[in-house]
Amino acid sequence: MHTLEVRTAVQAIEQEIVSWRRHLHAHPELGYEEVETATFVARRLKSFGLQVEEGVGGTGVVAWLRGEGKGEGLCVALRADMDALPVTEETGLPFASRNQGKMHACGHDGHTAILLGVAKVLSEHRQSFAGTVKFFFQPAEECAPRGGALDMIDAAVMDNPKVDYVFALHLWPELPLGKIGVKAGALMSASDRVRIRIQGKGGHGAAPHQAIDAVVVASHVVAALQTVASRQVDPLEPFVLTIGSFHAGQRYNVIAPYAELDGTVRTQNEALRSTMPNRITSIAQAVAEAWGAEAQTNYEYGYPTLYNEPHAVEAVSKAVAEVLGEEALVELTRPSMGGEDFAYFLNHAKGAMFWLGCHGPLSPDAPIHNGKFDFDEGSLAVGTSVLVQATLNTLRLQRT
Ligand code: MN
Repeated sequence: MHTLEVRTAVQAIEQEIVSWRRHLHAHPELGYEEVETATFVARRLKSFGLQVEEGVGGTGVVAWLRGEGKGEGLCVALRADMDALPVTEETGLPFASRNQGKMHACGHDGHTAILLGVAKVLSEHRQSFAGTVKFFFQPAEECAPRGGALDMIDAAVMDNPKVDYVFALHLWPELPLGKIGVKAGALMSASDRVRIRIQGKGGHGAAPHQAIDAVVVASHVVAALQTVASRQVDPLEPFVLTIGSFHAGQRYNVIAPYAELDGTVRTQNEALRSTMPNRITSIAQAVAEAWGAEAQTNYEYGYPTLYNEPHAVEAVSKAVAEVLGEEALVELTRPSMGGEDFAYFLNHAKGAMFWLGCHGPLSPDAPIHNGKFDFDEGSLAVGTSVLVQATLNTLRLQRT
């Protein structure tokens, strides 16, 4: 399949990809509940003549496509995530969510539609390549700290045949339609969760000397934790510690007996990351002790740092230049502090995730995970073309 044929083949099914996206968008399902979504996906994959397995790692779907071209060919896997978010949609689109309180606010409807498009195009041209393409439709990407990727990997999707390269994309509203963002090395961050319970002693609001005020102690803990970033971490190292939730107390004139903090820690350096449970535990403990309170810290490791393999990034960049032109390529200099469980797949094979520019002239200025988020549907054909071309280029690589 030549570059020109890729573009023509994608163009021919563009309206179909758009209609899949709109159907998925109107019927969002949360992580591990992607039952109708998985059925929708599997039905289409079967209609393309692919071998399909359902119920993989929960609600995941895997399809295999064997090339019928001459030669050996590698095994390339492509991954899309299928889950929506517990967000109330406010876009007013004709195909807006029909499931109250649930929304495809992270573009996973687009990812799923694009991967179906890639599967259709490649299945129609299986004579033009050798090797195996596996399609992973993953549940529960938003269900950190565990996430659905690990369940797919535990179900051995990376074996038989062993995956040589794995690719994924993410719709990216910070990039305009027609641009593709690539970066070798760290693209996204490790994201962990830390919960701290401060145990004080409740009492009458007018008699603080007889109580141990958990609100005051927990406030000092929150403030002290901010000095981890400013005083304990190399200033050139990407790092975030956010306490996003602070719950304590029942009444304005009663001293709270306990407080609960819940936060996220983002790093891109495994050595630094591994020091965090102890650092946070000892700060919380020491501050609490200074006030006669107690702190109990629970640190939960989540998604690892997402590292793009340089050769895989090269394969994507080459594909972008071929199907869109050099000017479409944006070499990202800075990673995101967001997390993505696609990182787990990259622990088992070379590969890369790239960002698909999706902000068009009519797109709202809303970030992902927002009730007003929407993207320019022109990005669906763009993403499909790049993924098809990157897959074809990679299948032809030598096994190393
Ligand atoms: Mn996402």
